[in-house]
Amino acid sequence: MADPAECTIKVMCRFRPLNSSEVARGDKYIPKFTGEDQVSISGKPFMFDRVFGSNTTQEQMYKASAQKIVKDVLEGYNGTIFAFGQTSSGKTHTMEGSLHDPDGMGIIPRIVQDIFNYIYSMDENLEFHIKVSYFEIYLDRIKDLLDVFHHNPLFVYHVKSQWFLGSLCPQGCTERFVCSPEEVMDTIDEGKSNRHVAVTNMNEHSSRSHSIFQINVKQENTATEQKLSGKLYLVDLAGSEKVGKTGAEGAVLEEAKNINKSLSALGNVISALAEGSTYVPYRDSKMTRILQDSLGGNCRTTMVICASPSAYNEAETKSTLMFGQRAK
Ligand code: ADP
Ligand code: MG
Repeated sequence: MADPAECTIKVMCRFRPLNSSEVARGDKYIPKFTGEDQVSISGKPFMFDRVFGSNTTQEQMYKASAQKIVKDVLEGYNGTIFAFGQTSSGKTHTMEGSLHDPDGMGIIPRIVQDIFNYIYSMDENLEFHIKVSYFEIYLDRIKDLLDVFHHNPLFVYHVKSQWFLGSLCPQGCTERFVCSPEEVMDTIDEGKSNRHVAVTNMNEHSSRSHSIFQINVKQENTATEQKLSGKLYLVDLAGSEKVGKTGAEGAVLEEAKNINKSLSALGNVISALAEGSTYVPYRDSKMTRILQDSLGGNCRTTMVICASPSAYNEAETKSTLMFGQRAK
C-alpha cells in the first residue's frame, strides 16, 4: 500500500524568461520569488510545492518535479503529469523540450531515459514490456496521433484484463511496443508530424487541443511469475487563455467554450481530490474519464503551472496561478 502522505497532488509553478517581443516592448518582469515555494504577483502571494524562476534548467525542472514519479511507475503505481498555462507560457517546452538535445530535453524524454536506464540495470529474471500511445483531444474528440489514417472518432471504453482492471482506454488507439529511448523519441516525432499533416496552422491547433502521451510499463519476474504494471499519462493541455468576449464567434467560440469546459472539469476533479471529497466528477469530460485510473487514490499527480513573467500577461498569469492553487 502507498504511504498516505505520498498520495497528495503536487503543484509546481514555472515562469519562463521574457521572450524577445516582450523585451522589445519593454515589458516589466513581474514575479517576485519569495522562497522556494512562493511567488508574488503585484503583491498577491501564491504558494505551491515548488516555484521555479526563469533560469531554471530542464534538468533541474525534471529532477524536482518528475523524477520521483518514474520510480513510482516502476513500482506499479499510475501517475499523471499535466502542464497547464496560457499559450506560449512554456507547456510544450516543459513537457517535451527538444527531444534530441541532452540539455534541452523536457520531462517526457528524461522520463523515458530513466525508465530504460532502470530496465538496463535490472537482473535478467525481469522481463519488461513498454508500450506507448499518443493521442490528442480536440473538441472532445480523441484523435490517434500514431495512426493518421484512423478517421473514425475514437471512443472511451472499459478494458477488463488481468493487468488493467477497469482501466479506460481510447478504443482502437494505437499501442506501440518500444525497446529503446530512441524508439520512443521516433514515435513522438511520428505523432507530431501526423499532427502537422492534419492541420493548417500547427501552433494554433496545438494550443487548442490537449495532447496526451501515455507510457505503460509491465514487468514480470520470470522466476516467481510476479507481475507489476504501472502507467503514466503526460499531458500538454490546451492553452488556458480566455477568449475575448467580443470578436469570437462561430467555430472559434465553440472551440473556446469546449476548452474552457474541459479545463474546468479537470480543475473540479483535481480540487475534489485535493479536498478528499467522496465524489469526484470524473465523468464530466472525456479527458478526466480517460485519466480516471491515473488520478487520485494511489496515483501520483503532478500539475506544472506554466506562466509568462511579463506585466502584459498579468491578468492571465494570475488566473493561471489561481487554477494551480485550487489543487492545494
Ligand atoms: P506553450 O506550449 O505553452 O504554448 P511553448 O513551450 O511552445 O509554450 O513556449 C513558447 C516559446 O517560449 C518557445 O519558443 C519556447 O522554446 C520558449 N520557452 C518556453 N519556456 C522556456 C524556458 N523556461 N526557457 C527558455 N525558453 C522557453
Ligand atoms: Mg504548446
